[in-house]
Parts: sequence; C-alpha cells; structure tokens
Amino acid sequence: MLETPHVAFGMAIAVKTGNPYIAIPMALASHFVLDVVPHWNPHFYTETKEFGKPAKLSTTIALIDEFVAIGLTLYVAYAFLPNINTSLLILISSFLSVLPDQIKFPFFFFKNMRKGIIKKWTKWERSIQVEVGPFWGILNQIIVTVVSLFWIFT
Ligand SMILES: [Zn+2]
Repeated sequence: MLETPHVAFGMAIAVKTGNPYIAIPMALASHFVLDVVPHWNPHFYTETKEFGKPAKLSTTIALIDEFVAIGLTLYVAYAFLPNINTSLLILISSFLSVLPDQIKFPFFFFKNMRKGIIKKWTKWERSIQVEVGPFWGILNQIIVTVVSLFWIFT
C-alpha cells in the first residue's frame, strides 16, 4: 500500500486508543494488515529486477506519496496541540505504520544494499502484498485514508 493510507490509519489508532502501550504495537501491526487489503502500488521490485532501478514514474509517485504522508502527519499532530502527549503519539504511530516500507528503500536506490537482511526483508514484504488493478487498488486506498481522517477528527 502507499504510505499515505498507512499513516492515516496509524494516526487514527493513536488518536482513538490514546494509549502508547496499545497504539505503538498496533500502529506497527497495522502496516501488515493494510498490505493484505487489495491495493495497487508502483512496481518497484519488478522494475528494479528488469531495469536495475525503479522507473521514473514510480519514483515520482513514491516521492509525492512520501511528501503527502509527511505533510498529513505534521498537520494531524499539529491539530492536536497543545495536547503534547497525543501529538507525540501521533508522530510515533505514523512513523511505525510505514517503517516496514521505509526500510526497503535502500534496496531499490542503492545497488550495494541489495543483499543480506534488507534483500530478505524486501522480498518477504513484497510477498505479503495483495495486488489489484489501479482503479480499485487506488480507490481502496483513498477510502482507507478518508475513513481514517474522518475517524481522527470525529
Ligand atoms: Zn508494506
């Protein structure tokens, strides 16, 4: 799944539980739950195997997604100020909700990182994805994002 729905869902967990002992493990676990919800993603792995690196369009989509995810995280964390505990929990949960993907990026962008544990992790993380075509696969992710944000602010 893209990073934006992951962080939206992770932050909803933070806001709705309000408890770091529940939110922190749940935010991390939520990553794998969302990865098995049918979705569409840029094909970083296939492209890297075929061309030696991700295609330009895929990299652009991933970059935009990263910026939106970071912007959304900062916005939600800021919206809960002056409640510093909730804001901090939002930041931590957001980070953990995408950590399993973030540690894959060195594999794609640095040739000398395509070995050992990063390679194993990237292959495994890829193997759990449930992929569908772009239409339903993107619509699903918009729904996850919108429902999570609605949940956060109501
Ligand atoms: Zn993932």
